[in-house]
Amino acid sequence: MAPLQQSDAVASAQKSPALYQRIGEFLVAQRIEPSPANYAIAYAVVTETDSALAQEVAARTDGGVRLTQRDLDELGMKVEHSQLAADSQQVTEAAELLAARAQAQMDGFTDVVVRMHTQARDFGRDLIASADAIERSRAEQGASPPFVEDVSRITAAMIARVREAERRLEEAHREAEELRRALEAARGDALSDPLTGLPNRRAFEETYAERIAAGQTPCVAVCDVDHFKHVNDRFGHTVGDRVLCAISAALSEACAGHFVARHGGEEFAILFDGSIADAVAVIEEARINIGRKRFRLRESDVLIGTVTFSTGISLALANEPLAKVFERADALLYAAKASGRDCIFVDGDVSI
Ligand code: GH3
Ligand code: MG
Ligand code: MG
Repeated sequence: MAPLQQSDAVASAQKSPALYQRIGEFLVAQRIEPSPANYAIAYAVVTETDSALAQEVAARTDGGVRLTQRDLDELGMKVEHSQLAADSQQVTEAAELLAARAQAQMDGFTDVVVRMHTQARDFGRDLIASADAIERSRAEQGASPPFVEDVSRITAAMIARVREAERRLEEAHREAEELRRALEAARGDALSDPLTGLPNRRAFEETYAERIAAGQTPCVAVCDVDHFKHVNDRFGHTVGDRVLCAISAALSEACAGHFVARHGGEEFAILFDGSIADAVAVIEEARINIGRKRFRLRESDVLIGTVTFSTGISLALANEPLAKVFERADALLYAAKASGRDCIFVDGDVSI
């Protein structure tokens, strides 16, 4: 009898006490809380000792220095970013799998169609041969021959084939529907930001390109949260994430009817269809309303305080590539930051 194979799950469970111990040793040595965020850092460092993160930890703790909370927040973001990169790799792999399924299905369709075509051709040829034979027999014998039986046999066979082809086509149609839904869902994942649920940078780029192709000249607003690093530094990255979600919801609500995307980090990009004056009015109202909010920690009611954002707005020219108009909006955003933040800078001389 063959020896029992040890499953991967069993093997990994047997390894885990050692892993758990090493993670514990790391947390104890650094005297840090075994919180989920810190555990994630410890896990990443211990399991991938050659990674850039592990090397950074080694550099920061060189000479027996312990990691500070600030170090942990910064490292936590890197772990998260590498997780996001892994997620995006998974999305790509899923898309490749779907593309392969779509290809296989198209091959299947082609197969059914080719087969139906061949059968119809054979059927036609058999019918013609039978009709000729009937004619010949009539001419020679002056009577209808037993070939009629052939015609009825061929027809019955063809009906059976057509039914089979119909069944296969129906099946292929069902699979195509299922595939279409899966492709739609995958496309949705590839175009949305997992943290805020807003459209992501890629969706923003595609939407801009569609509007330009339709002959529009949209306004591009780039909004960046002011001193957001302070929020992370004071309250941790998880609270920072929640604040980002709250701002994204408030900004989406204020800019309802316009295209609001998370362009990256604590930066949002918005496409406005109307005039630049309308875009400024909407953003100004959002700036005032969001700036009035007092953010608090849900659990403890501790005051986080106000959060403001700065904006640069520029109007696209006809057929202008996104990079150009975005560069102008970004330069205006930079000017808004330099002038003291919590304000809007616009193309031309207008600023608020
Ligand atoms: P400024 O007013 O000049 O924009 O200052 P800032 O602190 O907002 O800008 P800076 O570029 O120095 O820092 C941006 C910070 O945003 C650093 C980064 O930790 C944080 N951040 C970016 N993305 C995320 C995220 O997804 N979640 C959290 N919590 N923080 C993020
Ligand atoms: Mg910022
Ligand atoms: Mg920024």
